[in-house]
Amino acid sequence: MINTKNIISILDNILYRISRNITFNIIDNNLLVLSFHNIYSKKSEIDLDLLHPQQFITVGDFRLILNILIQHNFVFIDEKFDCNRNDYVKKCLLTFDDGYRNNLLILNLLKEFRIKAIFFVVPYNIESGECFWWDVVYRKCKFKGMSDAKITKYIEHVKCIHPYKIRDYLYKNGISDLDFLPKSDIDRPLTRNELNFAYDSKYINLGNHTWSHEILTLLNSDELIYSINQSNIYLQSITKKNITCIAYPNGCYNESVISNILKLGLLWGFSLDCITNQYNKLDLRNLKLGRKLIWGILNIEKQIQIFSLKYSFQNIIQIMR
Ligand SMILES: [Zn+2]
Repeated sequence: MINTKNIISILDNILYRISRNITFNIIDNNLLVLSFHNIYSKKSEIDLDLLHPQQFITVGDFRLILNILIQHNFVFIDEKFDCNRNDYVKKCLLTFDDGYRNNLLILNLLKEFRIKAIFFVVPYNIESGECFWWDVVYRKCKFKGMSDAKITKYIEHVKCIHPYKIRDYLYKNGISDLDFLPKSDIDRPLTRNELNFAYDSKYINLGNHTWSHEILTLLNSDELIYSINQSNIYLQSITKKNITCIAYPNGCYNESVISNILKLGLLWGFSLDCITNQYNKLDLRNLKLGRKLIWGILNIEKQIQIFSLKYSFQNIIQIMR
């Protein structure tokens, strides 16, 4: 069935085919920010159904992504955003959300390629050691035989509940505290020691992802400020420096969220808006940076090529919203 999403995808594919012949040269000051979540050591781990697979990215996929970006002359930047804004060189920033233990799997690759990344972690889970609620829901539903599509829909429904009430809602729907216990290293959050280890490597910087992954548009101002402040205090105790970046849980923000975050002194805010950031147009702070998701089940080179288009139908649709 043809719907709007299919049409946009077809149009972007046509753009991709045209742009393939003129390589990546139509891009100049593109800042591509990539967002990753959980990382699998190999494809077979996906079938264990311990995690909501999200982007299906393995360590091998991640190596391929780095190689393709390098082949096409992307330069990697870190959270300081401190390189020349007018050099017309394509930039890329790597970010990982939530703080899965499995994110350590990419640390050696970052060292090998001498590239830095930002981990946006959730201190509540680091301290409690509990699995993330969406993974708990996923494996429980999977065990009952629900399809991935239905589970994703259910998870989206739970995300709309006020963050402080999600736990009670899950209890009423057959999930207990025991279900939050990790089954292995695959499905657990980082420990504080592991986070220290990652940060000490010098290849990882830390960013705010709220205290317990609250969707900010569902909180009132006091709740929002409390959550972000608690997380900042926690992260600063590790980094011994100010935290400058925040990734909005689920990519959600609105003008009220932005005005509260401005008061908290954060400089860079990352959404999941699929837009191309123009590096030379960034202010000293920018709380509406777009990020793009790469999928391990789709052609990785083609995705990067489409992301690199200065003008794509995905971008136009996003800007018009
Ligand atoms: Zn998240």
